[in-house]
Amino acid sequence: ANIFQSTCTGVNERTFLAIKPDGVQRHLIGEIIRHFEKKGFKLVGMKLMQASEDLLKEHYIALCDRPFYSHLVEYMRSGPIAAMVWQGLDVVKMARTMIGETNPADSRPGTIRGDFCIEVSKNVIHGSDSIESARREISLWFHTDKLTCWAESTEHWIYE
Ligand code: UDP
Repeated sequence: ANIFQSTCTGVNERTFLAIKPDGVQRHLIGEIIRHFEKKGFKLVGMKLMQASEDLLKEHYIALCDRPFYSHLVEYMRSGPIAAMVWQGLDVVKMARTMIGETNPADSRPGTIRGDFCIEVSKNVIHGSDSIESARREISLWFHTDKLTCWAESTEHWIYE
């Protein structure tokens, strides 16, 4: 096991979250970050960027046979994206729960997609769907040595 993998479990588990171009245009960056901050997760990497077609095609490579693939890549290229890495116990699964279902129509109120969007093709946020995808996506979007490991002063108020 490499170092990255072995340091990314337990309270050091990491996930890749991205506020999509519609979320950025609709001024939801602060609101969305606030959800994860308030929950107790730790932000360890963040950048606002215009993603290239190559990066997006690679990011969504598992969906390349789906009819919406090219539309999806165009949507993700339509403006800046806020790319982030968040850390914490069970963060991959928990972030997905907080995000809601792929289709906002199936997402409960209180979830990000449940509260902030209506259509599946404009669903404001991405979150890795497994630890394996998180690992792949973080190394695709970030230089992992540039992620910031920092001690949070509130950590013992969040974890036993
Ligand atoms: N998507 C879409 N139409 C669909 C299904 C998905 O436009 O019928 C888009 C949507 O933006 C979704 C992304 O493709 O977030 C990736 O799909 P996936 O099934 O991986 O959903 P996610 O993991 O984002 O919930």
